[in-house]
Amino acid sequence: MDSVDIQADLTKVLHTEAEIHTRIAAMAREIEADYPGENLLLVGVLKGAVMVMADLARELKLPINMDWMAVSSYGAGTQSSGVVRILKDLDSDLSGRNVLIVEDIIDSGLTLTWLLGNLRSRGAASVEICALFRKPLAAKVVVDVRYVGFEIPNDFVVGYGLDFDERYRNLRDVAVLAPHVYS
Ligand code: 5GP
Ligand code: MG
Repeated sequence: MDSVDIQADLTKVLHTEAEIHTRIAAMAREIEADYPGENLLLVGVLKGAVMVMADLARELKLPINMDWMAVSSYGAGTQSSGVVRILKDLDSDLSGRNVLIVEDIIDSGLTLTWLLGNLRSRGAASVEICALFRKPLAAKVVVDVRYVGFEIPNDFVVGYGLDFDERYRNLRDVAVLAPHVYS
């Protein structure tokens, strides 16, 4: 789905599909330089990270494995509380592995802070984070994100895997959702 197909639901396109692909390629070059000859384990956080994972994994000129986790953070409304429940755990054993968590977006950073602690406690050789988008609040939190695609304003965005009420994940671009859609 393209932004023009749902123009009325969007206020602004933040990053086009082409910009996202260019940025992911650049991040892949950084990752390749940091893990020469390593067999990386990419851990995607369902469901939002599906598109980033698919594009990043194919862009990487490294042997990789892919695994997935689904988590839900308890909290009132749209605010994340930091209390996280695992809905689907990894299939892989992390002992001695170099793990890269692949996330769509970091807002409060609470979910990732919890995930980082959880995965690090499983005996991995290293655990780092790659997030396509980061909002201003997260930049202030002490969550150590090694790779960030784009810093974006504090608006609710959809597309490229990001949903509102399970919709818009198949939008190619990332765009700000028009307030009339959710109010
Ligand atoms: P936090 O960093 O606050 O713990 O939570 C991050 C999660 O909240 C993301 O993985 C994503 O699922 C969701 N999220 C945060 N900001 C947005 C946004 O602007 N749009 C969408 N669709 N999801 C968001
Ligand atoms: Mg997510």
